[in-house]
Amino acid sequence: MADIRLEGITKVFPSGFCAIRSLDLEVADGEFLVLVGPSGCSKTTLLRTIAGLEDLTHGRIEIGGKDVTDAPPRRRDVAMVFQNYALYPHMNVRKNLGYGLKVRRVPRAEARRRVEEVASMLGLEELLDRRPAQLSGGQRQRVAMGRAIVREPSAFLMDEPLSNLDAKLRVGVRASLAELHRRLGVTTVYVTHDQTEAMTLGQRVAVMREGRILQTDRPQKLYEEPKDLFVAAFIGSPAMNLVEARIDGRELVFGQYRVALDAGRSPAGTSRNVVLGIRPESFEDASFAPGELPTIEVEVAVLEELGADAHVFFRVDAPQVTAEALEGREDATLIADSTALFSARVDPRTRARVGERVLLAVDPSRFHFFDSETGSSLLLEPRHAAVAVAGA
Ligand code: ATP
Repeated sequence: MADIRLEGITKVFPSGFCAIRSLDLEVADGEFLVLVGPSGCSKTTLLRTIAGLEDLTHGRIEIGGKDVTDAPPRRRDVAMVFQNYALYPHMNVRKNLGYGLKVRRVPRAEARRRVEEVASMLGLEELLDRRPAQLSGGQRQRVAMGRAIVREPSAFLMDEPLSNLDAKLRVGVRASLAELHRRLGVTTVYVTHDQTEAMTLGQRVAVMREGRILQTDRPQKLYEEPKDLFVAAFIGSPAMNLVEARIDGRELVFGQYRVALDAGRSPAGTSRNVVLGIRPESFEDASFAPGELPTIEVEVAVLEELGADAHVFFRVDAPQVTAEALEGREDATLIADSTALFSARVDPRTRARVGERVLLAVDPSRFHFFDSETGSSLLLEPRHAAVAVAGA
């Protein structure tokens, strides 16, 4: 096992494209860290630099306390599992699992013991004599994982290993991956663009955008205290509702609505334009909510009844801020649409019907506020922290 330290990593490709910009990251010994972000934000490039498959333009990499910045991949004692795990088609599962050990000249008896142990750990015992073509996608994926585990490396580097599986299988393999990590306790860096996968697997999650890490935190903390708009929009499903709004003294105005602010958790008392963020579950059908919460009357545009809960969609007459717009170039405008489509997750017993009006309660203590220029969270500003203490 080993910890991983990246200091000031910069990667400029020969084309001149700067894929990673002065990035620092520490992964603790035995930790499961997920790198998540939209397509093209350099997750794979970062993983490949840790593996030694890309050389660095600047910076330093340590694995297990040793400087491996210039070490070739085989000296780093890490095992990679790729999205397109190429199993050897002419070899059976046993040989596929043992091949890496043979190449490393591990004694035959020892190799056999490790292959059998890993096969039993992954439920592959019955499949050892089959070839890859005779396996299902999920089984092939487990063999690919087994090939990495059998090497007993000090760290695993995984690049979207579940993305070729269908949705149902992915949930199952995801759970066994988490269980496997608990049992083996090997340091793991795992790349995905799927925020649900990131939240369920990661002990900590690093959110990347355009070659930088914006925030690294425990999943729940990322969800509750996103440092900026991009993290707020990226983490959570359905996504946080984001809209242009105005703080007017102790009240908040967004579109046709005006709601009293929570003095303890808002930049109240000032007058300024902000981006307001409200997670869908911060709303409730007023018939099922505590009486003291403020309410807004909305017209139901779409109703999705999902059994355990219901989603009510409604229009707010103010410009929407979307994750898609945020994913664009840095100089792109954050504003995507002139009216915002909000979603509220409410009790399934709701009597809301499409085209009718319904009263929704909303909890101002769960609002998020972001600077409309920089996108930074206003709840984490030192000045606001002082307001929060004074209000407590
Ligand atoms: P995805 O989720 O789509 O796999 P990613 O976040 O893993 O994306 P990378 O594959 O790391 O992104 O690519 C990051 C950026 O670097 C992209 O803009 C890509 O076009 C660019 N890139 C990757 N390899 C090279 C290369 N060899 N030369 C120049 N640019 C490259």
